[in-house]
Amino acid sequence: SNNGGSKKPALLLGRYEVGKLLGQGNFAKVYHARNVLTGDEVAIKVMEKEKIFKSGLTAHIKREIAVLRRVRHPHIVQLYEVMATKLRIYFVMELVRGGELFARVAQGRLREDDARRYFQQLVSSVAFCHARGVYHRDIKPENLLVDDAGDLKVSDFGLSAVADQMRHDGLFHTFCGTPAYVAPEVLSRRGYDAAKADLWSCGVVLYVLMAGYLPFQDRNLVGMYRKIHRGEFRCPKWFSPELKHLLRRVLDTNPQRRATADEIMDDAWFKIGFRRFSFRI
Ligand code: ADP
Ligand code: MG
Repeated sequence: SNNGGSKKPALLLGRYEVGKLLGQGNFAKVYHARNVLTGDEVAIKVMEKEKIFKSGLTAHIKREIAVLRRVRHPHIVQLYEVMATKLRIYFVMELVRGGELFARVAQGRLREDDARRYFQQLVSSVAFCHARGVYHRDIKPENLLVDDAGDLKVSDFGLSAVADQMRHDGLFHTFCGTPAYVAPEVLSRRGYDAAKADLWSCGVVLYVLMAGYLPFQDRNLVGMYRKIHRGEFRCPKWFSPELKHLLRRVLDTNPQRRATADEIMDDAWFKIGFRRFSFRI
């Protein structure tokens, strides 16, 4: 823009010119940026080091970052590089231009084919990361982005261990808006299998895409917790028997009984039109 002929000096971060704020989460701000050498556009996520130190997960996060930097998957937001200053850490990532998936759901529930395609993309990227020892721990609307082509891009993989720790420290309510996507065994703060907990969240996402509203809702949080613990949800009449069957397997409160990623990918409703990608890390 033209402010009296004199351009505002650009904020430079390494070789990146930092632009407008794209979004803000619980732990970070995400900015649009441009590589001044190549012109490539990226997203830069800025995290306060203090928040990571406080979480006591520095070593853990470093390990996950090391894995993430090598992960290449068509439906996972790619992490290009990590930079740090004294106070902050900067994650340079693939820029995703289509906004959050749930902005679409806010305009009404999705057609079954679209919901299935997003769920396939979500579960296959989650399975891909699980196989490499990386867990998401915070699968929820704000972390599901859509690219120009209308395909899903999962963001925040591995970086959400902080969110997880906060929950265990009892800081959950201050930092996260809603437990609506969190598995019952995570809410009860016992030890749990991070893979199974991620899959529960995928189940909640599928329900929301198909219904247009949350499966576990109540007048207050206590009521919502109770419903999650009991796995108490109803399917609207437009859910097919096959979809209901899959949802009951994924939203099973018993993590041992809950469907694994392989079982989900072998499900009749899931498999329609699904093609596994061939990719490498
Ligand atoms: P937090 O970990 O604090 O929740 P997020 O990584 O989820 O932060 O980012 C916050 C918001 O920034 C997201 O909800 C999204 O709107 C936007 N955002 C995040 N990553 C990207 C990206 N790679 N491209 C475009 N927008 C993004
Ligand atoms: Mg996030």
